[in-house]
Amino acid sequence: KKQKNIERKSKKTIKGEKIILYNIKSEKAEEFIEDLEIKKAIDFAEKNKTNKELINSIIEKATKCDGLNHKEALLLLLCELEEENLEIFKLAEKIKNLVYGKRIVLFAPLYISNYCVNGCTYCPYCFKNTTTARRKLTQDEIEKETMALIKMGHKRIALETGEDEKNCPIEYILESIETIYNTKTENNNQTIRRINVNIAATTIENYRKLKEKNIGTYVLFQETYNKKDYEKYHPTGPKSNYSYHTTAMDRALKAKIDDIGCGVLFGLSNFKYDFTALLMHKEHLEEVYNIGPHTISVPRIKKATEVDVSKYENSVDDRTFLKLIACFRIAVPYTGIIISTRETKEIREKALKLGVSQISAASLTSVGGYFNQDKAKNSSQFETSDKRSLDEVIRWLLSLNYIPSFCTGCYRKKRVGENFMNLSKTNEIKNFCTPNALLTLKEYLLKFSSTETRKIGENLIEKELENIENKKTRKKTIEFLKEIEQNQKEDIFI
Ligand code: SAM
Repeated sequence: KKQKNIERKSKKTIKGEKIILYNIKSEKAEEFIEDLEIKKAIDFAEKNKTNKELINSIIEKATKCDGLNHKEALLLLLCELEEENLEIFKLAEKIKNLVYGKRIVLFAPLYISNYCVNGCTYCPYCFKNTTTARRKLTQDEIEKETMALIKMGHKRIALETGEDEKNCPIEYILESIETIYNTKTENNNQTIRRINVNIAATTIENYRKLKEKNIGTYVLFQETYNKKDYEKYHPTGPKSNYSYHTTAMDRALKAKIDDIGCGVLFGLSNFKYDFTALLMHKEHLEEVYNIGPHTISVPRIKKATEVDVSKYENSVDDRTFLKLIACFRIAVPYTGIIISTRETKEIREKALKLGVSQISAASLTSVGGYFNQDKAKNSSQFETSDKRSLDEVIRWLLSLNYIPSFCTGCYRKKRVGENFMNLSKTNEIKNFCTPNALLTLKEYLLKFSSTETRKIGENLIEKELENIENKKTRKKTIEFLKEIEQNQKEDIFI
């Protein structure tokens, strides 16, 4: 039995350097997120956090843009050498620029129901919470909510719900996805083009149903990978099952969902543990399915109804938070990093520089709030810190010399999953991204922006066209820009 166990353990090396001594390919959460391996990695990093030679060799390795394994990345995260820390931040910035250029993708959350049977202690949707007003939108209300987002200029949304088999069954979610995709403005056929879905862990069968509805990324935050803490924060309800929650992405990938998005709710448990475990999760998914996370989200716990944030001893301070983002950027150069309006404008600005590639904007976390704030009263999930309008956020991005992007081209043209990863890793994706970002920015400027934002945006488009190296692509982009401006064309991508 012992021999078999040893054989089961993968002996493959990551980048030819490290023998993996835990069961990376296992179907069991407790094995691919092995507690002992995480503790060993933390111990190793703590012991070497001032080991100049080792840290510099890892920085050197990371400059190749091939990423790092969890142990190496954790050592950079915990590094206590001033000079090297500056190098780490610089490298994150460099990788960000190299892989993503100036593009920042925008989206907004759309909450359709906050009924929940779970007992998550940090979440106001917790079934015990009587202050939260419970609400589930009708299909008619979902259409109105979608329309409000379309009219702001949004093209991508993250669909959010609580978990409640009775009040919010999968059939309701599937119908809602259809309603959202079918909502069109009367005058110019504007629609939501990509729905990412953030719903509770579910069955392979349900993931297949979501796939059939053409969802974008399936997003599920692990909250924390530390089983003990997970069970403390999720005492009751289906979400209390650590194994089932942690293996959700395996089921989603088995159901052939193309893109998955991981995340940790920072503040619940030790950040070193969760940083390491999230990277181990990524390594497991890549090893077994050849697909890593399309995105990583980095939410921090926020004040909410009946949730007192001051009680969370594991809260992550701003400096650590930014270092986490920088180290994720270095460890997984080709995975998008998402930051939400939980964070302030100031933190978002710093995070963008260090690695964030997607941000939400003008978000409301209430159920039905975009369309009717009165009716949505007391239904919010948490307080947002960045309350600016989409136009203000776009203008701010432009002023920082970023290219705001509403691009859904890869999804539209089926450059998803493994296909996307391959294009991305060979940097070919760049040939599509900048032109497509400019095309969607143009659409936004023409149809939704204020005059002031339009002026700054048009200038940026002109400037950026010159930076498209491939002459054919540049020519095509100019052609498409004209189509958008003169013939009201929409949804066209390189
Ligand atoms: N019910 C689903 C699930 O179980 O994953 C959907 C997720 S919920 C609508 C979106 C996310 O909000 C949660 O995964 C959690 O990380 C986050 N969240 C909950 N309470 C929060 C709080 N007080 N502050 C910040 N984020 C919170």
